[in-house]
Amino acid sequence: MCGKTYKPGQVEYTCTVCGADGILDVHYDYEQVHKVLNRDTLAANSDRTLWRYLPLLPIPQGARLPRLTVGMSPIYDVPILATEFGVKRLLVKDEGRGPTASFKDRASAIGATRALALGRSEIACASTGNAATSLAGFAADLGLAAKIFVPASAPEAKVAQLLIYGAKVFLVKGTYVDAWNICQAAVAEFGWYNRSCAVNPYLVEGKKTGGLEIAEQLARELPDVVFVPVGDGCIISGICKGLIEMKELGVTSRVPRVIGVQAEGAAPIAAAFNAGKDRVVPVEANTLADSISVGTPRNWKKAIHYVRATGGSFVTVSDPAILEMIPKLARASGVFAEPTGCVAAAGVREARARGLVAAGDSVLVLATGNGLKDVRGAMRAVTLPEPVTPDLAAIRQALS
Ligand SMILES: *Cc1c(COP(=O)(O)O)cnc(C)c1O
Repeated sequence: MCGKTYKPGQVEYTCTVCGADGILDVHYDYEQVHKVLNRDTLAANSDRTLWRYLPLLPIPQGARLPRLTVGMSPIYDVPILATEFGVKRLLVKDEGRGPTASFKDRASAIGATRALALGRSEIACASTGNAATSLAGFAADLGLAAKIFVPASAPEAKVAQLLIYGAKVFLVKGTYVDAWNICQAAVAEFGWYNRSCAVNPYLVEGKKTGGLEIAEQLARELPDVVFVPVGDGCIISGICKGLIEMKELGVTSRVPRVIGVQAEGAAPIAAAFNAGKDRVVPVEANTLADSISVGTPRNWKKAIHYVRATGGSFVTVSDPAILEMIPKLARASGVFAEPTGCVAAAGVREARARGLVAAGDSVLVLATGNGLKDVRGAMRAVTLPEPVTPDLAAIRQALS
C-alpha cells in the first residue's frame, strides 16, 4: 500500500507502482454520496436489491444492469445457538439464496455489469467454485462469454452449474493456486476482462454490499461482532468496508468488530494476524471447506488492514468443528449452508473461548453459500438410514 491514488478510469486493475501486490481500494466523495444516500433516502427506497446502493457502487451512469436479482438477503435470529455459544444474541444472514446460491453473486453482479459497460465481451476468473458459478450466471444474463478456471476437484454441483450456464470451463489439474496462476496468464494472453477479486478492485465493491446491508437492516440493533469465513480475504474486506461506509454516511453510529474465520488447514491470514506480522507465509491448503481452501491468499493485506480498522481479529476452526456445524446450524435456524457457509458460526465458539467475544455481545454470522452446492460434504455430517420396506411394521421398527 504505497498510497498512490488514481482517477476513475485511469487504471482498471492493480497499482502501477506496486505491481500485482498493489490491490487498489475504491473511494467515493462521501459528502456528495450522502446527499443521495442517507437514512431518509434508504427508508424511501423500494428497490430490494443491491442496486439500492448504486451511488456507492462503481457502475458507469446508464449501464445496463443484470436482471438476476441479488441482495437484501434475510437475517434470522438463532436463539438456540446463542444459548449454546453463550452470547446475548446470534443472528445468521443467509447468503445461500442468491441467483447462483452464494455470496459471490454480489461481486459477479458488479464485475459482469462493469465488463459490459466497458464494451468487453469476454470475462474470466479463477475460483474455488462459487465465484465461477456466479460469474457464469451473470454472464449468461448479460450475454457475455465466461472463461472459468477451477481446480478439477471442485464439488460436482458447482461444476454442473458452470456447464449448464454455458461457460468455457477449464478443470485445472492442481490446486486453486494453479488455477489462479494459469487464469492470470490466460487473461494477459487473450485480453479477457479479469473478474478476479484480488486483481480487480471493483469486485470488492460488490462484496461490500453485504456490509452495507447488515448496517441498514440492523441499524438500531447493530451486532457487536460480525463473523466472516476467509479464504482470499475479499469478502471480509468488503464486509468491513461496507460497515465503515454506513457509519461515514450516518446510517449507523458505530462499526461492529469483524472477526475472520479460517479453516485450520488453510489459515495463513489468521497466522499472520495473530503473530502480529504484516507478511503471509503460503501454506499447502487442506480443508473440507473447499471455498476457503486457499493456501496463497491474494487479498490478505486488505483483509488485515480492514479487520484492524474495525478492532476485529482472526480465529481458526477445525474440519470436525465445521462438519458438526452443518446440521447444527440447519436444525437451529433452517439455513442449510455448504461447509464453508458454516465456518463463521463455528468461529463463534472459538472466539468465545479466546475471550474475543463476551457473554453480553450480540453476534452475526455470515452463511456464505448454500448447502446444496456440496451435498457430498454435508453427507459426511449425517448417517444415511437403512432403506425400509413400505409397510407399517418396518416403520414401527425403525421408530423404536
Ligand atoms: C469465496 C467464498 C468464501 C471466502 O471468500 P474470500 O473472499 O475468498 O475470503 C467464503 N464462503 C464462500 C461460500 C465462498 O464461496
